[in-house]
Amino acid sequence: MACSEESNEYWSYDDPSEWPKHFPCAGGSSQSPIDINSNDAVFDSYPLFTFSSKYNSNELFTLTNNGHQVAATLTQRTYGQSDDDLWFTGGGLTGQFFFVNFHLHWGRNDRHGSEHEIDGERFPAEAHFVFKNRQNNQLAVFAFHFVIADQWDEENTEWEKYADAASELVNVNDTMNCSFNLSRLMKANEREYFRYMGSLTTPPCSENVIWTVFIDKIPIVEESLNELRQNLMKKVYRPVQPINDRTVYRNYVN
Ligand SMILES: [Zn+2]
Repeated sequence: MACSEESNEYWSYDDPSEWPKHFPCAGGSSQSPIDINSNDAVFDSYPLFTFSSKYNSNELFTLTNNGHQVAATLTQRTYGQSDDDLWFTGGGLTGQFFFVNFHLHWGRNDRHGSEHEIDGERFPAEAHFVFKNRQNNQLAVFAFHFVIADQWDEENTEWEKYADAASELVNVNDTMNCSFNLSRLMKANEREYFRYMGSLTTPPCSENVIWTVFIDKIPIVEESLNELRQNLMKKVYRPVQPINDRTVYRNYVN
């Protein structure tokens, strides 16, 4: 099935089960998100990720309310930086994957909001970091789950910054520039994860996306989620899809 990554056709989170009518890929057999059964996951040994130097420094990002999420892209032509400078290799993936955007999914209340579930458990929010191999257009997405915390971790205020800035972008196409340190947002090499083949979780839901779903949870303060829910959108997540005959791998020893 040939599906492009971009589509201007209207869609909403009100009824994701309607998506396949307009986006045929959404009815495919390798869709995301899924409920990951940790007992069924097969161990595989993956090397560490190697990130470019901009992964570890404060970089300027542009947050945009695109009507479905608030996506953060690298701000172009500022201080001479470009998408070419932010990438990773390794982690068991073939080739060089360039940063595309990161964004957050959430739900109406703390019982919903994550896209992936782990052993049937849902989480209040899930962050996605999208990367692309420009040679073959292969997408790799990193997913992180959140748990409610009483207060923000003083050593890591990156997600507080994201939530504060995003909740001000109340109208579609509103934008704001904000600096983030990707390594503090992700801590990718310090966390255990699951790996499987799936799809984009937004229309057109194109398949052939390599998913890395991290296990360690990131703390988020409920007030910040409430601001996003009240100021922007009430819920921005797709429910889990059938796993069918896919295998989920894990990078940790039971
Ligand atoms: Zn996403």
